[in-house]
Amino acid sequence: MQSYCNSLTRYSRLDTLEVRIGDLILGNHHPVRIQTMTTTDTMDTVATVEQSIRCIEAGAELVRITAPSRKEAENLLNIRNELRRRGYSTPLVADIHFTPNAAEIAARIVEKVRINPGNYIDKKKFDFIEYTDAEYNEEIDRIRQRFTPLVKICKEYGTAMRIGTNHGSLSDRIMSRYGDTPIGMVESAMEFLRVARDESYHNIVLSMKSSNPQVMVQAYRLLVRQMKDEFGACYPLHLGVTEAGDGEDGRIKSAIGIGTLLEDGIGDTIRVSLTEDPEFEIPVCKDLVKRYERREAAVILPIEKIPYSPFEYRRRPTRAVSNIGDQHVPVVVADLADWGAIGREDLQAIGYSYDPEADKWNIGDAAADYLYTGSTLVPFDLPGTLKVILEQEAWQKAGDRRKYLPLYTAGEYLEMRVPGDNPHFVMLDAASPVVGQVFDKLATDGQAVLCLRTSSPWAMMSVRACMATAMNLGIRNPVILMVESTEGTIDGQLIHFSTDAGALFLEGMGDGIWLRNDPDALVNKKISGRTYLPAGNMRQFLNNTSFSILQATRTRISKTEYISCPSCGRTLFDLQETTAKIRAVTHHLKGVKIAIMGCIVNGPGEMADADFGYVGSGPGKITLYKGKEIVKRGVDSAIALEELINLLKENEAWVDESN
Ligand code: SF4
Repeated sequence: MQSYCNSLTRYSRLDTLEVRIGDLILGNHHPVRIQTMTTTDTMDTVATVEQSIRCIEAGAELVRITAPSRKEAENLLNIRNELRRRGYSTPLVADIHFTPNAAEIAARIVEKVRINPGNYIDKKKFDFIEYTDAEYNEEIDRIRQRFTPLVKICKEYGTAMRIGTNHGSLSDRIMSRYGDTPIGMVESAMEFLRVARDESYHNIVLSMKSSNPQVMVQAYRLLVRQMKDEFGACYPLHLGVTEAGDGEDGRIKSAIGIGTLLEDGIGDTIRVSLTEDPEFEIPVCKDLVKRYERREAAVILPIEKIPYSPFEYRRRPTRAVSNIGDQHVPVVVADLADWGAIGREDLQAIGYSYDPEADKWNIGDAAADYLYTGSTLVPFDLPGTLKVILEQEAWQKAGDRRKYLPLYTAGEYLEMRVPGDNPHFVMLDAASPVVGQVFDKLATDGQAVLCLRTSSPWAMMSVRACMATAMNLGIRNPVILMVESTEGTIDGQLIHFSTDAGALFLEGMGDGIWLRNDPDALVNKKISGRTYLPAGNMRQFLNNTSFSILQATRTRISKTEYISCPSCGRTLFDLQETTAKIRAVTHHLKGVKIAIMGCIVNGPGEMADADFGYVGSGPGKITLYKGKEIVKRGVDSAIALEELINLLKENEAWVDESN
């Protein structure tokens, strides 16, 4: 079943063909290349050149520029010449949607063109059309006729190409046969790839982007399998999560999608698309890539039988222990063990705020489910269903069995003759030699929850292998995944947590999350020049990161989901400012997905499964969507936010914040 990577337990880069983009070589085990995309108007040569230079100076090895029509495609020549005149030889990529004639011009100027197979030839009408086989084949012939000229130009000029599929902008033809699915995304690219190969053109990179990391990871894996089956070789892969948003959420979503694939050796170039200035994307790319620069082959035994499908999400079947496992959403454990005495005010950072006058707790949507306090007792009544996990020795003395639950080390657990009748936790190192003995005992222990960490430097693979063993043995105890980070930056920790935990959640393996770090390493550190973490607020950082990882893997929804495009030369309003304004008034709408898209050309197609869309449709004009349907057209941008709120209210998606 597994044929999408070299190994599930040993880091090994996937073999891919070599592609030349100007002087840059990509694929075939060359370093993973870092790239970004400008957000300036392509007709503004100076602004585009200067932004490109900022990206290049930050470390971009490729710079993509939008070319929505012939005139922008032609202006790429001025941009390219000016960059070369200033001494920058970084390859440029023209980003094309809908306009083959712009692509054919750009392919003669820049080193690479990106086309979207969902809209290069097809004009999307969002119609469901039943195609007979003959009609379907006629459409494929039409692709061949329209696409072959571009392939020939690329061959003649030595220009590379990316066939970049986006979930949400698949053609009506693909949608009608495959639906909006990962396999539909793969087929969308393969239709174009087959035409290019028939012309003996191989200077090709592929991508399968989605704003949903689950869909994105499955699509890349399926694409690798398809290419291996059909051609016996793989073209290089460009990884990215589209419309990831900004700040921590954007970084977490990107790290989960991109990092999960990099862990398995998949990916030859990456772009982290954030709704921020493009040069701020580069440090995040660097942090992602550097994790694999010196990664040697892991010493983890191979998984003999893969007990899950890497191509579809299915949560590992478990029995419930209290509110953990089975149908319960994954729980969040807040680790307060290193913080000494605990007061009511300490719980504010993990979602519980206490009103002393009313003697009442307010519980937020992102409130942790368990506290781990080491051996420290909590000297007040706990809010809601919150419980405290204590080291077993402290638990023996604590008395209150409803408030406190014990955590056993693997050694303590193996020494116990009869495990208790109440919920208890067992901490296990996935790399430990006692894993087999602990599993033997867990098999008959209906009240044990496993807390799985690892001392292996190949953390994700080590835990994955351990989980696969548990699944093959039929162990049904819930598992809380613990990730410990000693990275020295906030971005570094976000990426570490997101990759190691996120990859496993995407494979259906977690019933809870428990993050630990070294607090002193991070306080007052900055991301992209902005302070994200006030002194002493480490608990909030870990709690938010836990909930964001669960949200991004779509395993527990606790907040509003924003799908905001990174902006480009087509953008019709200030995306960063508008996203911030929309977020400020809608951040409390748990589970509602709001897309904020810069243009009506690509926005509606790319907002995927958003519930509501706020889309630029002309200078100073916004069009509002419910799903894929236009509900308010050409709204004056001065009142568009108010109209969005009205739309949310009309559709019962709005609640007042105080509720
Ligand atoms: S949706 Fe955003 S990033 Fe995509 S083309 Fe439009 S403005 Fe550019």
